[in-house]
Amino acid sequence: MEKTNVVVIGGGVVGLAAVAEIARHYEDVFLLEAAPRLGLGTSTRNSGVIHAGLYYVPGSLKGVHCVRGAQMLYEFCAKHHVPHQRIGKFVVAENVDQYSDLNAVKTCGERNGTEGLEIVESDFIRRHEPNVASPLALYSPNTGIVDTEELIKTLARIARENGAHLMTDTRLVGAEVKDGLCLLRTSHGEEVAARVVINAAGLYSDEVARMFGYDEYQIYPCRGEYAELVARLSDIVNHLIYPVPPADQGHGLGVHFTKNMAGRVLLGPNARYVNEDKEDYESDPTPLEVFYESAVKIVPSLQFEDLRPSYVGLRPRLYTGRGPSFTDFVITPDPNWPFVIHAIGIESPGLTGSLSIGEALAAMAQARLN
Ligand SMILES: Cc1cc2nc3c(=O)[nH]c(=O)nc-3n(C[C@H](O)[C@H](O)[C@H](O)COP(=O)(O)OP(=O)(O)OC[C@H]3O[C@@H](n4cnc5c(N)ncnc54)[C@H](O)[C@@H]3O)c2cc1C
Repeated sequence: MEKTNVVVIGGGVVGLAAVAEIARHYEDVFLLEAAPRLGLGTSTRNSGVIHAGLYYVPGSLKGVHCVRGAQMLYEFCAKHHVPHQRIGKFVVAENVDQYSDLNAVKTCGERNGTEGLEIVESDFIRRHEPNVASPLALYSPNTGIVDTEELIKTLARIARENGAHLMTDTRLVGAEVKDGLCLLRTSHGEEVAARVVINAAGLYSDEVARMFGYDEYQIYPCRGEYAELVARLSDIVNHLIYPVPPADQGHGLGVHFTKNMAGRVLLGPNARYVNEDKEDYESDPTPLEVFYESAVKIVPSLQFEDLRPSYVGLRPRLYTGRGPSFTDFVITPDPNWPFVIHAIGIESPGLTGSLSIGEALAAMAQARLN
């Protein structure tokens, strides 16, 4: 049986960030990824936005890792030549009565440590976004975008250079704790013994936790669907454009305009619980009309014919049964087996926060290994 120091389950941005950091300090560090390639899960089915930290409860793990992670990600992308752009974002009001809603977002962002937020009026908005109809907006200059596929490739390259072994097509199917070691069984029938295990299995992090007897959390896939605009409209907006968030943000931030690093403009994502199937990206798609109705309120010149269906992502939404719509990331040692560390419910801003979360997971692992 192979004996290892650390095994990370899941080769998305979070698992890769953790493994790259741990492998700087330890040998015999492995990552198991069920899919044939790294990053095929939520990590490349998202908006690619580097969030500035506007919406999260101040002091929450989401708020902390978002603001810290954004700074780390900008520095990382600049250093390792990962395509990214600090493109900026407007949260646009439909009417001036929404001033207090915008101000509440600004205050929340500032309490999270977001810098440069400013409430701007129609002259400013028109100068920067001639196609957007709005009398008042919150401007966030530090919001950006990143090429997620390049980020994954770069993290994987660094992890390998640091000595980590990244095994694709290898699913964790069972686990047992014996004599202070975790015995892991893979889909190839191999057994691996690990001193520390990190659960970064995204949509399946609740199921991996259950393999260790930890059944506190349940993940429900919350679908985020996108439409995209035809290529000739790539300059219809110059920034990321969001509506004022709906009162219940548990259901997403409202259909918004996102530019990606390929220069396309996406509408979405929406937020829908379609069913409990964590692989269902296709059934019962939202009609394009629904995206159009929201989007045309922000950009009145938009025509329905300009929209095309686009891709879908599944949020690993945590259900606690405890009511309020805000749920935080769960980043914790297992209550029974402290050498098993769980990252559960890493939905947005998990891409933004990935390097910060990865560092936190690595620190928890190191505390167990020393
Ligand atoms: C529609 C949408 C839009 C989003 N937009 C943004 C955004 O703009 N900005 C932002 O910051 N965040 C955004 N997010 C959130 C962000 O994408 C996630 O928080 C982040 O990608 C989570 O990464 P991860 O590594 O935890 O999960 P994943 O990328 O899902 O990786 C988990 C991996 O674990 C593997 N795995 C699962 N089970 C096993 C097993 N038993 N054995 C081995 N491997 C296993 C899976 O195959 C998968 O590759 C968005 C999410 C969605 C759905």
